[in-house]
Amino acid sequence: MHERFPQVEQLVLDIAFTDLGRMGTYSPQMHSFSASAKAFFAVACPRTLCLHGGFDLDSAVSAMLSAGATTSTDKLECRGWVDPTCPDHARCRLQMYFRVQARYNAAEANVLSRRSSRTSKL
Ligand SMILES: [Zn+2]
Repeated sequence: MHERFPQVEQLVLDIAFTDLGRMGTYSPQMHSFSASAKAFFAVACPRTLCLHGGFDLDSAVSAMLSAGATTSTDKLECRGWVDPTCPDHARCRLQMYFRVQARYNAAEANVLSRRSSRTSKL
């Protein structure tokens, strides 16, 4: 993560699942990423029967970090397939609500605030 987002010290991801088909309930999850972690933000679909499912948070996370935001919430839907023997529920469509929180590097933040105070004097 440090190579892609050097200004970020830590990312915390809180997620909750909603199953519109009420086929099951899934526990909320919490993931945290340190600067040394891989910048690969994806969550596996918790439904055991789901094929090729999962949630890709990469675009949401990089959009948030490039905007310098500290919190972002959104919803994603699983595009995987469930057991082909039950055609009524062909698509997984499990919904995931997530909240990403970022903690930025203090040194980098000082550089930014110094830069902006210099700009405001001009
Ligand atoms: Zn799924």
